[in-house]
Amino acid sequence: MFKAGETPLVWEAYAIRYAHHHRMARENFIGGDIHDGPMPLDYFVWALRSGDRVYVVDTGFDEAVAKKRGRNHLRSPGEGLQRLGIEPSQVRDVILTHMHYDHSGNHDMFPQAMYHVQQREMQFCTGPYMTHAFMRLPFDAEDVCAMVKKLYGGRVVFHDGDAEIAPGLSVHYVGGHSMGLQMVRVWTRRGWVVLASDAAHYYANMDLGLVYPFTFHVGDTLEGYRRAGELADSKDHIIPGHDPEVLKRYPAAGPGLEDWIVRLD
Ligand SMILES: [Zn+2]
Repeated sequence: MFKAGETPLVWEAYAIRYAHHHRMARENFIGGDIHDGPMPLDYFVWALRSGDRVYVVDTGFDEAVAKKRGRNHLRSPGEGLQRLGIEPSQVRDVILTHMHYDHSGNHDMFPQAMYHVQQREMQFCTGPYMTHAFMRLPFDAEDVCAMVKKLYGGRVVFHDGDAEIAPGLSVHYVGGHSMGLQMVRVWTRRGWVVLASDAAHYYANMDLGLVYPFTFHVGDTLEGYRRAGELADSKDHIIPGHDPEVLKRYPAAGPGLEDWIVRLD
């Protein structure tokens, strides 16, 4: 991914939990789960920082959307960023892994930011597949309209496939779960970390080769698990998008931040 001679920056990487939702394991895998039991979802945004360069990955949803969707909103993603010393109003770059409602809300939180998104994702959420109610389910028209407004405000950067967007920081097209889903790969003090986002909701998706029920393309989803493995330095370097285990496997980013913000680097 590197341009010749370019030295990667070393990035700090954080996962910030902002919401929670109860559900059963059988609801999380196509074909159900013979070991059924509670298997909740956590909701995260991620922050990457190197010196004064900051990238926020995904924007989460707010209290009102949580109410509408029956999710348990814990804290605004903005509050988590502030806790790390990142002022949302000053953020210059936001990467959207995909346009699902739980990844692309809080439209006015980053008034100065450019938004990085895959071309195919915007085509998907504004195109003919959205004539199907099932396909629209994880999207919110308000999020899509907000992105179209940003586009016309000159604030969207389209990527088509893989792209290095800063030294040691790249996006990687996966598709699968959503037509234009992208992962983020980042160079850290412990090596290459991959923010899989919804390329894998849980570690179990990758470990068992089982796919989350809401999926645009099953084959591309399975290929995505393999791709994440190729891009990351080890399994332990792949961060799934919704697994409560993330908070247990990685250390809190500071005192009192357990169950809220962990360091992935
Ligand atoms: Zn999603």
